[in-house]
Amino acid sequence: MVTPTVGVLALQGAFAAHAAILESLGANTVEVRTSEQLADVDALVVPGGESTTMSMLLERSAMLEPLRQRMADGLPTFGTCAGMILLATEISDGRPDQHALGAVDISVTRNGYGRQIDSFESDLDVVGLDAPFHAVFIRAPLVGRSGPAVEVLASVDGDPVLCRQGNVLVSAFHPELSDDDRIHRQWIESLDL
Ligand code: GLN
Repeated sequence: MVTPTVGVLALQGAFAAHAAILESLGANTVEVRTSEQLADVDALVVPGGESTTMSMLLERSAMLEPLRQRMADGLPTFGTCAGMILLATEISDGRPDQHALGAVDISVTRNGYGRQIDSFESDLDVVGLDAPFHAVFIRAPLVGRSGPAVEVLASVDGDPVLCRQGNVLVSAFHPELSDDDRIHRQWIESLDL
């Protein structure tokens, strides 16, 4: 396989830790801040952070339509936490001006596990992994509905926290914070480039 160039959307949020893991797995990694950089990547990570801010910055940097277009053309994408929110079909409590790219047919509630809980950790059984993954959730989105095209790869108390639809993977948690590269590795290995 040709070494893939994986972009990490770097407008805001937790992009550096993703880039470090992807590099350690042998991917060429590029921080993406412009539509020109986006045009050159084979796959993209949309990191955690603040989905409202990321949505606004995508708009300001004229990347929203290029990103929609590349995703419509099948760009393999991995969205974590705020990235999951951005890639969802519906944000039940989004800001009115916040964009949902509609790449995965899920409805999410931002901070849906409760602001007072803020963050928690959970050992997840993940489809395709033979031992639990210790996942870190930080003001995580709660998936309320997932459509028939969505494959649920892990759940917490019956709520999906890792989902795939076609080329797009989304997690409510931060896999880059666990000192465990198996989810990134599984994603990289699944890229059909
Ligand atoms: N709650 C944040 C949002 O609405 C996401 C938090 C995170 O990415 N850790 O975007």
